[in-house]
Amino acid sequence: MADPQNSSVSGSEQKPLLSVRNLKMHFPIRSGVFSRVTGHVRAVDGVSFEIHPGETLGLAGESGCGKTTVGRALLRLLDGAEGEARFENSPNLLTLSQREMRPYRKHLQIIFQDPFSSLNPRLTVAGALMEPLKIFGICKNRKERRDRVVGLLEEVGLSSTHLDRYPHEFSGGQRQRIGIARALTVEPKLIICDEAVSALDVSVQAQVINLLMDLRRKRGLSYLFISHALSVVEHISNRVAIMYLGKLVEVADKDEIYKRPLHPYTEALLEAAPIPDPSVRRERQLLEGDVPSPINPPPGCSFHPRCKYCFDPCRTETPPLTDVGGGHQVACHLVTHPDSPRKTCHD
Ligand code: SF4
Repeated sequence: MADPQNSSVSGSEQKPLLSVRNLKMHFPIRSGVFSRVTGHVRAVDGVSFEIHPGETLGLAGESGCGKTTVGRALLRLLDGAEGEARFENSPNLLTLSQREMRPYRKHLQIIFQDPFSSLNPRLTVAGALMEPLKIFGICKNRKERRDRVVGLLEEVGLSSTHLDRYPHEFSGGQRQRIGIARALTVEPKLIICDEAVSALDVSVQAQVINLLMDLRRKRGLSYLFISHALSVVEHISNRVAIMYLGKLVEVADKDEIYKRPLHPYTEALLEAAPIPDPSVRRERQLLEGDVPSPINPPPGCSFHPRCKYCFDPCRTETPPLTDVGGGHQVACHLVTHPDSPRKTCHD
């Protein structure tokens, strides 16, 4: 069994593309006339994981668990994160100035949930996609930039006829394709997809997911795929990390986590997930209670007020994320505590 203090999310022996250690993002709460700091919102509280070339790590959990903050902190869209994040052999991205961060932005891109608000309404598609090419000096002249943008549009299922149109002239799915094309302009190696298909209709979601999977195959891309929808995460991910109240509670290969979840929270999320097949009947077990406040998380296991398996140590001792074999990691006393009522982790 791995040392729990040094446990991390690792999917292979290959050198990781992105390595994150003990990432923390605590937002100060200020109050009073002097705006004194009176507390912190612990949005992300000690998250470690790795992403390897060509791999998709799904990051799932309920709204408010901190998964979006992880993506934004890594890209330095939020300042104040602690810990370590290295892209290939880079220095710690979290300590770089915005200027020093610039060369790494070329390799790390993001696709947002709402493509409409992430596209400038005053720029045509050509303008929006040629801008990063100009900033990073990727093409020599305007013609080269325009040709490259046409190629990208075709790659995402659009065409040169869309070049001179504005964002409001497109459907949600088309706008997300433009968002994907824009992320691809600078030839990134890793894309953070932040609820990238959540705002789309189910049929359009499937098309965009298939497009992302094709691009991963063709370009050897890696994704950090952030979503609250477990069925979508299952479809696209190689490994899945489940997050609760700012911490990772379970990480494993996709098949392992969906077939044999070990953490009661993962189990509850899977039981509550809708079944896409109308011929299959199952009583859905809804997860009771709300996610506690990250300002004052419960002591011990932060899931204990909602957990049907809670026993004494859960109320006082924080369970460490522990490898229970084959890279399957779980933070639960039921699985690892010597006083657990379970005899084996799969009871
Ligand atoms: Fe439930 Fe205890 Fe495991 Fe937390 S540590 S998930 S409370 S059994």
